[in-house]
Amino acid sequence: MPIFLAYRAVMSSIGPVIDLHTHSRCSDGTDTPAEVMHAAVRARVDVVALTDHDVVTGWDEAEQAATELGIVLVPGIEVSCQVSGVSVHLLAYLPDPDEPGLRSTLEAVRRHRDTRIQRTVELLAADGYPVDYSDVVAHAGAGATLGRPHVADALVRAGRYPDRDAAFTDVLHGRSRYYVQHWAPDPVEAVQMVAAAGGVPVMAHPFAAARGRTVGDEVIEAMVEAGLRGLEVDHRDHGAAERAHARRLCRRLGLLATGASDYHGLGKPNRLGENTTSPEVLQAIVSLASGTSTRGAPLR
Ligand SMILES: [Zn+2]
Ligand SMILES: [Zn+2]
Repeated sequence: MPIFLAYRAVMSSIGPVIDLHTHSRCSDGTDTPAEVMHAAVRARVDVVALTDHDVVTGWDEAEQAATELGIVLVPGIEVSCQVSGVSVHLLAYLPDPDEPGLRSTLEAVRRHRDTRIQRTVELLAADGYPVDYSDVVAHAGAGATLGRPHVADALVRAGRYPDRDAAFTDVLHGRSRYYVQHWAPDPVEAVQMVAAAGGVPVMAHPFAAARGRTVGDEVIEAMVEAGLRGLEVDHRDHGAAERAHARRLCRRLGLLATGASDYHGLGKPNRLGENTTSPEVLQAIVSLASGTSTRGAPLR
């Protein structure tokens, strides 16, 4: 038996390794959806959610690979939201992607994100930065949801910065003069929309202050009223204090506590399986969902 299969056999007696937040080239990750599934196997992850920003285009390819590899795929989306100028990311697990409300909102967010990236690139180019919108689009995955990481990649390719992080720190951060706001749904409405599509809404990295301003507990309480089911507690952008606060909120508000890597391939240092979700929480998510089912290997 190959070593990794033997290892997985041992691990499966302990319980599956579950990572519920990853990105592919369908948004700002650097792996194809199939490559994310292969990377999951190498990282000993048994259950992986593909949660590209505002798109479901990677689901089919990921499903095919998950089936071949014998791992479980949880189809998901990371929905961009905004409230009072603060960006909120909402993970939607197992929604029906054809539900009209969800579908049209995702289309609108993607349109606004594209316009915003075009404007960002124009502002940078006007100040002499070596970027061009058609080059940014050409290097992103076909039909990918465009984001600032794609602009960072263009600046790295042009030799202006050594990596994405350096580009973000200098010109692409939220307080930069090159930062352009974009329309996104209100998180309370997004929670209702995901629930209406039979999905399970879980707020991603709620207190990741390094990424920009975060919302107060009152916004999370309003999201819970609307049907929010969980918080992503264990995430690398949360320190011990943020995790403790998130766990307290989960207990007080009756929310599921998840953990995940937010893997982006080579785009970020996040490693698959570095934070995980318990099998009990995954089971709760699956039983709450009515939009679609898990794919690939059967969930045991
Ligand atoms: Zn996010
Ligand atoms: Zn993410």
